[in-house]
Amino acid sequence: MSTMNFDCDLLVIGAGSGGVRAGRFAAQRGARVIVVEGGALGGTCVNVGCIPKKLYSYAAHYAEAFEQSQGFGWEAVEPHFDWSVLKARRAAEIGRLNGIYDGLLKAAGATLVRGWARVIDPHTVAVRPVPGGADSAVQHYRARHILLATGGQPQKVDGPGAEWALTSDDMFDIDPFPRRLVVIGGGYIACEFASIFNGLGAQVTLVHRGPRLLRGFDHEVADFVTAEMRKKGVTVHLQCTVAEAQRQGDTQRLRLKQAAAEDAVIEADAVLHATGRIPRTRGLGLEAIGITLNANGTVPVDAHFQTAVPSVHAIGDLVGHMALTPVALGEAMVLVDRLFGDGTRPPIDYAMVPTAVFTHPNIGTVGLSEEAARERGPVRIYRSDFKPLQHTLSGSTERTLMKIVVDDASDRVLGMHMVGADAGEVVQGFAVALQAGLTKAQLDRTVGIHPTAAEEFVTMREVTRR
Ligand code: FAD
Ligand code: NDP
Repeated sequence: MSTMNFDCDLLVIGAGSGGVRAGRFAAQRGARVIVVEGGALGGTCVNVGCIPKKLYSYAAHYAEAFEQSQGFGWEAVEPHFDWSVLKARRAAEIGRLNGIYDGLLKAAGATLVRGWARVIDPHTVAVRPVPGGADSAVQHYRARHILLATGGQPQKVDGPGAEWALTSDDMFDIDPFPRRLVVIGGGYIACEFASIFNGLGAQVTLVHRGPRLLRGFDHEVADFVTAEMRKKGVTVHLQCTVAEAQRQGDTQRLRLKQAAAEDAVIEADAVLHATGRIPRTRGLGLEAIGITLNANGTVPVDAHFQTAVPSVHAIGDLVGHMALTPVALGEAMVLVDRLFGDGTRPPIDYAMVPTAVFTHPNIGTVGLSEEAARERGPVRIYRSDFKPLQHTLSGSTERTLMKIVVDDASDRVLGMHMVGADAGEVVQGFAVALQAGLTKAQLDRTVGIHPTAAEEFVTMREVTRR
């Protein structure tokens, strides 16, 4: 097919983590690129995800820092937190990042079109301009390749009080600050937002239907962080659901049904449903061009991110391999290399994707949990649980957990897990080693950096259990 028939070589729908990365790198490789975005540049991560969440997590940590500084000789002050200042400063920073994303696309030579896209046929996309734009007519673009990178959106669950519940999107600008917050769910967002709002001064109750938070994580890690969150003041109800909800003015009254206790009634100023996210396919026109969605709403792709329609590709949260920004970025790089490079970039090793949960304290983890590793064969577990040096003077009772899962036969390290300050920063480095085939003997040969918490990973010698 001649390139002349097309307005561009690649039309990307969605300027989030994956879409911007694909658009930029394809353009840098000489492809003619159009990126269509209906919302704010940068997508979920920049606007209502990773970045504002982490900024708020930093804000929440200060509450402890003020208190703990007294153990180091600082005189007591009465800190005052102003939610409106934090919101305004976050909004300004996110605005700056939106501009940077715009600049990155322009600098790479990609064309940004503002509007909502719909795929009309395997090579044609219709764009409905966002209201207020200069031109309100629907525009059509012909593309050699189309990339779907429309991400996901939060899903509330049905049940009592759902009509008043908020999602994570609503929490960044919530007004007024909720003094009493109930969080429903036990995944990443539930645990992070419970920690953040607790740190910022709310009275937080986390209600989770399952017996343990953070399904899929190492059980010991999940239990340890649950205990730490409780110590810091979050009320965690496990095996618990909302049986009844009423609203009187701004106060919601929830009756909680618990497996291990009597029903309890609690009051809340806000209820957050942190109960998962669904792929954003509505209005994209996929069924009409022959793309049938998976049962969970994700777009089926092959190992090269190609859909059932050869000219249409999909990456990121939309395909749902792992809903993490670095995964969306990595998938974009693999795809661009295949379409516009020499196709030699190796596929993503999803089993070795490290991840952090920005609870207080943080979780950092890479590789297999103890439970998943045991299903594959005999393992050795090395584990250490200690009071970090800082807290010998700070007065905090926070503890750190570090854990190594080793394949007994080969000595290969299968998983490394940490709960503690900056766990994500620590585990990122070890993830490189795991990716390269790290053995326990190599960890033992590595010299530590003293005094750090990270050195514990290279000094654990005693097997905790087999
Ligand atoms: P997105 O970033 O969601 O981008 C999709 C874009 O497509 C959006 O801008 C949307 O407006 C646009 N779009 C949708 N439909 C159309 C259409 N029809 N036409 C035009 N444009 C369209 N991940 C981490 O790795 N670390 C974290 O700490 C982290 N924290 C998170 C915290 C929260 C609260 C949430 C919700 C998510 C978090 N994530 C985190 C996950 C991360 O944000 C996502 O995995 C990532 O943003 C996915 O990127 P994406 O490119 O697939 O989609
Ligand atoms: P998760 O999938 O992590 O957690 C969803 C939670 O909601 C689970 O605890 C689940 O329980 C519960 N749930 C689901 N349905 C219901 C229901 N009907 N009633 C009650 N509870 C229910 O999703 P999140 O929304 O927390 O986050 C979405 C994704 O975004 C994450 O999986 C992650 O990939 C990404 N993210 C990454 C972050 C990071 O990297 N730090 C931070 C935030 C998000 P159960 O376990 O029983 O199914």
